[in-house]
Amino acid sequence: MSRTSLTGLTLDELRTFVMDLGEKPYRAHQLFAWLYKNGVNAFSDMSDLSRDFRDVLERVAVPGSLELLTTRRSTRDGTTKFLLRLPDDLAIEAVLIPPDADAPDVERRLTLCVSTQVGCPLDCAFCATGTMGFSRNLSAGEIVEQYLYARRNTDRRISNIVFMGMGEPMLNYDEVMKAVGILTDNRGAHLGARRITISTAGYVNQIRRLADEDRTVKLALSLHSLDEAKRTALMPITKKHGITALTDALEYYYRRTRIRPTLEYIPFEGFNDTDADADLLIRFARRVPCKVNLIPFHSIEFTRPSGFAAQLRPSSGARIEAFASRLRDAHLTVMVRSSAGEDIEAACGQLAVAESASPRRLHVRAPRTPASSHP
Ligand code: SF4
Repeated sequence: MSRTSLTGLTLDELRTFVMDLGEKPYRAHQLFAWLYKNGVNAFSDMSDLSRDFRDVLERVAVPGSLELLTTRRSTRDGTTKFLLRLPDDLAIEAVLIPPDADAPDVERRLTLCVSTQVGCPLDCAFCATGTMGFSRNLSAGEIVEQYLYARRNTDRRISNIVFMGMGEPMLNYDEVMKAVGILTDNRGAHLGARRITISTAGYVNQIRRLADEDRTVKLALSLHSLDEAKRTALMPITKKHGITALTDALEYYYRRTRIRPTLEYIPFEGFNDTDADADLLIRFARRVPCKVNLIPFHSIEFTRPSGFAAQLRPSSGARIEAFASRLRDAHLTVMVRSSAGEDIEAACGQLAVAESASPRRLHVRAPRTPASSHP
């Protein structure tokens, strides 16, 4: 009989679980705190549970279901990447990203980037994860457990979580929001909802749904161009959800939440880094207040890209600065991100793709099956 993995259960679900075992409901509160507040992953360490109850738990449950395979820490900037094995032998990544050394909140900020799917069905031209195809959605427990592993492997407090790792979070909306519910529960990990950011390639219905949630989290859009043809070349999803629909959805999100969405923008040399491209962003920001993150391109040469993807080159540092200055002159809030963890393959999907080429049992490369939740 397979044992139940408790990470990923809400307090209500834990209550049902312990009562089915003939235990009192308060046991659920104890388990919830041990799992999410204290981050303990062995029943034997849950010291206020009776010996008998711990023995029962050992027989019918496991605290979590992931296994840490590899940890890589950048000697340049401290970025730490975790490769985790799922019960079905697939692999996912989570990345701890310290702030830039000159960031104002350098002492307080430590961001964890989590995955929401194994692989991704969206095939963005610049992304290593897209080359893996899609295997499956992660459960809420598999998402929360990435946080718990990262927390056990750092002596600093994780201040922020971004759902920007492998996969498109909006294609796994329900499990992502269940994970957000567990992570923000004040009886457990108690992270602030405003410290959680969900990123999307541009699913307009889910952006509106997110705006209507009681628990308001931040939104990031992987944008990369406001020119329909250029964005379609970079992100084929644009054919289905065009710039106009996307702009309307972001405006709705801003009006409902009063939170400025973040636009993620990778400048590619001579493609989307011209003054005219910057002016499209300036015009967009007049309608939707937003913040812009300019992110240097991590090469995906190791995936042996072909066609358009093979032609993409990172913009020079000088060009990125000129692009940023043009935006700032128009009073936009702009951050130029550093190339965090370049020495440890920290960009989305890089480590998992690299590991899939090594002689492990992992089979992270999967057939290109569309997500069943794909709207
Ligand atoms: S950038 Fe995001 S949405 Fe696009 S293929 Fe990569 S993981 Fe998927």
